[in-house]
Amino acid sequence: MARNIDGTEISRVMRAEMAQQVAELLAQGIIPGLSVVLVGNNPASQAYVASKTRACEALGMRGQTLNLPEEVSQEELFSVIDRLNQDPAVHGILVQLPLPAHLPYKAVLEHIDPDKDVDGFHPRNAGLAFVGDPRAFIPCTPAGILEMLRRENISTRGRHVVIVGRSLIVSKPLASLLMAPGPDATVTLTHRHTPDLASFTRQADILIVAVGKQNLITRDMVKPGVVVIDVGQNRVEDPGSARGFRMVGDVDFDGVSQVAEAITPVPGGVGPMTITMLLANTLQAARQSAQARK
Ligand code: NAD
Repeated sequence: MARNIDGTEISRVMRAEMAQQVAELLAQGIIPGLSVVLVGNNPASQAYVASKTRACEALGMRGQTLNLPEEVSQEELFSVIDRLNQDPAVHGILVQLPLPAHLPYKAVLEHIDPDKDVDGFHPRNAGLAFVGDPRAFIPCTPAGILEMLRRENISTRGRHVVIVGRSLIVSKPLASLLMAPGPDATVTLTHRHTPDLASFTRQADILIVAVGKQNLITRDMVKPGVVVIDVGQNRVEDPGSARGFRMVGDVDFDGVSQVAEAITPVPGGVGPMTITMLLANTLQAARQSAQARK
């Protein structure tokens, strides 16, 4: 039976370490601050945003949410971002995705000051990360996966990592980070047009799945001893639960657990690590802004 990789526990340890670092900044009169811009009333987005700002406050950081109406214009949204860009008390800015269709999300992300872009989605940060520059803010989910592997003593050096999905926020940056000197993995990236997906996933020493399809990966698609990182978050109806639904990943957890060496559960795997790395990026932004003022 596979060992569970407990993202909640790793996050608890990391957040305790970060609380110390926040206390050191507070002693210098700096309160690390994250501002989250939420457009509209999408319940899933509201829940994500609330957990992000709550996590900030639990560490002694400032977490602020700016709620804008669904029909906000691009100009109004840009002027809110301008204000946050100029506010020295705001170290990190995050615009919650997805945005309503009338707002061009790429232009919105590019409007955020790259020095405050704690999601790491601005092209400047994506480029810095690609060339391995330590000033880059690394997107939180890929950063959380790397940290999780490191803290679980799962070496990636020379091992074959197969990633399913090619998104800009998870899979592409993850592939580039894993193949870099340090992690030193051999990486294969697959996506919706990859024929015979199982012929790739069966080669994986470490399999990372970021698609958004329940049960995409089944027991017959992995080799014994594989390490599985399940990024997917899918809502399935569950009349027995108070919310009427529960979250599952992209991997058939029960089946794959029988042959894998280690696996992340959903919930309680990658999700908490993503928020933890957002806190880490906000701390990094606060430190860099303090240094820039010296
Ligand atoms: P996305 O939704 O932008 O894209 C999905 C990717 O899956 C695409 O690249 C597509 O080519 C690929 N794909 C679709 N069908 C496929 C198939 N049959 N075989 C192989 N590849 C296929 O990707 P995303 O934004 O990375 O999100 C993926 C999943 O990860 C979603 O469930 C999302 O909710 C979840 N997610 C979780 C976290 C977290 O913190 N746990 C963070 C980000 C995303």
